[in-house]
Amino acid sequence: MRTLPAGEVLRLWDECRDASPQARALALAATADDDTGRAVPPAERPIGRITAQLLRLRDALAGPRMTATVGCPGCRGTVEFQATTEALLALEDKIVDFPPPLLHGGYEVVWRCLSYEDLRAVAELPEADDPDKGALLLLQRCLLSLRQEEHPQTSSAVDLPDPVRQALTDAMSSADPLADLLVDLRCPDCELAFTADLDVAAFVWAELEARGRQLLLDVDALARSYGWSESEVLALSEPRRASYLRIVTGELP
Ligand SMILES: [Zn+2]
Repeated sequence: MRTLPAGEVLRLWDECRDASPQARALALAATADDDTGRAVPPAERPIGRITAQLLRLRDALAGPRMTATVGCPGCRGTVEFQATTEALLALEDKIVDFPPPLLHGGYEVVWRCLSYEDLRAVAELPEADDPDKGALLLLQRCLLSLRQEEHPQTSSAVDLPDPVRQALTDAMSSADPLADLLVDLRCPDCELAFTADLDVAAFVWAELEARGRQLLLDVDALARSYGWSESEVLALSEPRRASYLRIVTGELP
């Protein structure tokens, strides 16, 4: 993907700041979408397809190396970890857009991967505040049909025996490994080993916000010094803008 022009960063920041997390992720991913010809709309694709676009956007914004931080559940300290967009994007090849039915414990379950449309729809329901109920509602949305000869009345995720439900959850994770990125970590302070969820959409949004803020400061400094308009400052290439800023701050003799 091309690098993201400064004006585009500010446009995205304006467009997404009041959006829901789901709408924001889709809007950000759309800027990196290189396959608009696909039949399935982005909101209905497996979540990992959107994560992959977000990773490509991240690459365009700041390169492949990512340093993220999470709170340690033990001591509440900050744990830092590294990842690269390349390593995560390698998982994109493992996404199964149209997974085969699951056959388990006498059940035949026809299902599909979770999408952003599912996340959006479930987030609007009051029951979604309870994580267990939220997970079940998501599972239910992905059940296309269920068949079990001995229990013909079974039709919802609630009726599935635990082993079948677990097998379905496992099948969903392996069909879309970019949907939920879990990282095994150890806290350097208290030594606690824990698993953290890498929220790529939130991570990319935080970086875009930081970039947007920095651009506004750059525009402010150059507009004050040279009387240039916002569009004139944003039209400068990144190295040229940085050079003028060094002149303004006296770093460039
Ligand atoms: Zn800790």
